[in-house]
Formats: sequence, C-alpha cells, structure tokens
Amino acid sequence: MFKSEFYRFSWKDLGDIETGRPNLGNLMNVAVYRLMQYTLRDVLNRRLSVEKATELLREAGKLAGTEFCTNLLDRSLPFNGFVADLQEKLLSLKIGVMRVEKSDLEKMEFILTVDEDLDCSGLPLADETVCEYDEGFIAGVLEAYTGREFDAREVDCWASGERTCRFRVTARE
Ligand SMILES: [Zn+2]
Repeated sequence: MFKSEFYRFSWKDLGDIETGRPNLGNLMNVAVYRLMQYTLRDVLNRRLSVEKATELLREAGKLAGTEFCTNLLDRSLPFNGFVADLQEKLLSLKIGVMRVEKSDLEKMEFILTVDEDLDCSGLPLADETVCEYDEGFIAGVLEAYTGREFDAREVDCWASGERTCRFRVTARE
C-alpha cells in the first residue's frame, strides 16, 4: 500500500507502536528525527531544487497538521480552548513549547512562537529560517479547525539566530 501511487496517508499508518516496540517503546532521540529530515532535505535539494524541496516539505507539514488536528485535537472547542489543547499536545509529545504572541480573530491573523522546536532548536547558525515543515503544520492545524485556508511563514528561527521560532499566520481571502 505504501508503494502504491494511490497511497494516501491515514493516521492508522503510524501503526500499533506499543505492540511493535514492546521493549523500546514510543521514544527515541531527537537527533534521529533530524537525521531523517535533513538527509531528506539534502537529497530533495539536489535531485529537485531548493525551491521545490521547500515546497514539498511545507506541503507534507500541512498534511501532518491536518491529520494531527483531525485525530488528536478537539475541534469542537472554542478558539481559546482549542489553542490550549494544541499547546498541551505539542508539549506532551515534546514537539515544542508554543505560545500565541498576538491574535486577531476577526482578521484571522496570528503570531505564534515555538520554543525548543523539534526541528531546529540548537541547529548551527545559518542566517536563514528552516522550519518549512512547521509552517505547513501550523497552517494545516488551523485549516482543519476553521475550514479556511491559511499560510504560515517563519520570520525568526533558531537557525537565523533567534532563540525561538516565530511564525506569522494569516488566513487566505
Ligand atoms: Zn525554526
């Protein structure tokens, strides 16, 4: 199924980890996640282009965010409760420490920060933002919650020299 052109991700494809890893369990080193992500980025950059690799990582992040929201978050909650639920899940899964810095519910515009981000916190300084997967993830979560399309762009990142990742999030017209 994974190798079919008709394959579409579904949450159950993450498998029964408890049964599959009775001794090793659910946790592994963050470096292993980053090894996967940045070797994939290496190959995508070389085989496609930096622009295409960025676009694909963002698109995969959006799919992850949509599925994350649909499967793990309570979409029936009002906005503040939904954000609290999201924060709690990101914390308990050790993805990062998310805060809402600014929110304009009328315009659907937000500034979010993520401290200790899984993807980038501690990376060597590179004078660029690198969390495109997270950009997609945030947009996907909000799309699944609101039914509207969102764009999230990282304006500060550990890799660009900040101590946090900061995302500007806007709803599309
Ligand atoms: Zn970042």
